[in-house]
Order: sequence, then structure tokens, then C-alpha cells
Amino acid sequence: MFATSIAGSLPKPEWLAETQKLWPQWKAQGESLQQAKADATLLWIKAQEDAGLDIIGDGEQARQHFVHGFLEQVEGIDFENKVKMGIRNNRYDAMVPQVVSALKLKGRVHAMEAQLLRAHTTRKIKFTLPGPMTIVDTVADRFYGEGEEGRIKMAMAFAELLNQEALALQADGVDIIQFDEPAFNVYLDAAADWGVKALERAALGLTCTTAVHICYGYGIQANVDWKNTLGQEWRQYEKVFPALAQSSIDQVSLECMHSHVPMDLIALLKGKDVMVGVIDVASEQIETPEEVADTIGKALQFVAKDKLFPCTNCGLAPMSREVALKKLEALAKGAALARARL
Ligand code: ZN
Repeated sequence: MFATSIAGSLPKPEWLAETQKLWPQWKAQGESLQQAKADATLLWIKAQEDAGLDIIGDGEQARQHFVHGFLEQVEGIDFENKVKMGIRNNRYDAMVPQVVSALKLKGRVHAMEAQLLRAHTTRKIKFTLPGPMTIVDTVADRFYGEGEEGRIKMAMAFAELLNQEALALQADGVDIIQFDEPAFNVYLDAAADWGVKALERAALGLTCTTAVHICYGYGIQANVDWKNTLGQEWRQYEKVFPALAQSSIDQVSLECMHSHVPMDLIALLKGKDVMVGVIDVASEQIETPEEVADTIGKALQFVAKDKLFPCTNCGLAPMSREVALKKLEALAKGAALARARL
């Protein structure tokens, strides 16, 4: 009951990359960079186990960014000539690569991290991939054409590539494959209309557990400012949850801690496992086990106890290592307290 995990990313050690940045520069190159990525992955496997988490991830140590890490292994994308683009409905600017021709995987994307995970922990492992709609929102297009039709075509093309990698991750021994779709909270109608279909295409044929993570983003200033415009009640999930409840995806990860999401929206996910965000990623304040257990208690009004999985609101990548570690411990201790209370 209450198996704990992180949403996905963890801070990179300062010997691997610049710290507290969303698109950090690597500190090594070539073979030594590969070794450093593997070392950082191992370090975080151990740290998650020591903190007491039940489901272990790679902490996304081998990717510069959760979307671009995947795109680097895709043929048809020009990384040499990045362009500035407003992403998440122009919430903030990012330097993004461009799609210039038909898309194809160059080979495996995350074999190294997945195999390291499987070899070094006996606990369940979760692996994250960007969702098709969020990829489309984090890359410039010069190939699929203008408008919604082009976006849908490109999303379906990415979904096929994601599916290839997801099937290979499953063969590596991954127990849970999670697609990250922060874009679902931004393009509400499109998410319910074609976003969920593209997601199901990405998960086609998987027999392991499948999940989708939908959040209000990392704890960066642009996101904090955006959240301040969303009013007293954040009802974005209301649009996409019914479509997800009808979908083939097994688990939905959402943010709850310190957010203005009405808890009762969880009831729209009837039948699904719910990864409840009980750790805030936009605050350095460490949650107490009591706070975590209280949030779990509130969510239990709307989801059965065997379907509730305590999680972080989002990735911890831009935080300091020290704070992230303490937050992992708070997550595990809070879940233990919630178990004891029941
Ligand atoms: Zn997130």
C-alpha cells in the first residue's frame, strides 16, 4: 500500500552538469561524459533506496532535458540550428531544435540507464519518456506543416518512435513506463481530443504498467508566475481526466501538494491508479511526514487505498541536491505514517 516514487527527474551532481538549471551544460565530453552519466544514475538509485522509496527511477541523469534527451536520438531533427520558441502557450521561451524531415530513431535512446537500473535494484523500476503532445510543444516544425493538422501528424509520428523505445524499455525489465504530458494542462481541448489518442499510440502493445504525468511544471519562476494567474481553483485536469479514465493508460500522476487543484477532481479518474503529488517542487521547505500523510488522507476520500501511489508533484531537477534528498525522505516517511494511521 502507498508505494512511493518520484515523478521523474532529480538534480544532477555538479561534476556532471551545471546545477539548478533546466537546460544545463554538461561538464564532460565523449567517453567521460557517458561514464559520468552512468555514475550519477547509480548514485541516485542508491539514494532513492536509502531514502526508502519503493519504486526507483533513473532521475533522468543522462538527459539534458526531459524532452530534448529523447529528441537527440531522432533522425530528422536539426540540433545544429536551434531557434527561440515560446513554449507551453508562450509561457516561457526555450531554444529548441527543428524538425526538418521524416522522423526515425537512430537506435536505442535509454538502454544504458534502464539496464543500469534493472541491474542495481531489486525494487520496481519506473522509466519516464516525454509524451507526444509535449514533444510537439517543445520542438520547432519545418516539415509537418502549419496548424492543428500538422501538429497532430507530428504527434502521431513521435508516438510511433516513443512506442519503439517503450517496448525496448519493457524488454529491459522496466515495470512502469510513464509519459510526461505537462502540455495536457495547457491545451485542454486538444489534449482531450487528440492528445490522449497520441498517448495511447505511444503505449500500444505494452504489457507493463503504463502511466501519464500531468503537472503545472517545474518550480521555475515562469511557472510560479503562471500559477499566480490561474485563480483560486485550478480545474485544468477536469477536461482531460474523463478522456484518460476511458483510455488504456493504467496510472495518472498529478500534483496536489500546495496546489489549488480541487481534490475531488481525482474522482474523475475512476478505475485508474492515481499517483498523488504530495511533495511540492516549487518550495525549498521540506514537508513534514504529517503534512505528507495528511495530503494522502485527503486524497483517500476520492481514490481507493490500493490505487493511491504517493509521488512528488513534478521533477526535482532544478533543486539543490540537499533539498531533493530531504524531500525524498519526507515522501517515504509520510507514506509510512499514512500506512500506520490506517
Ligand atoms: Zn511535471
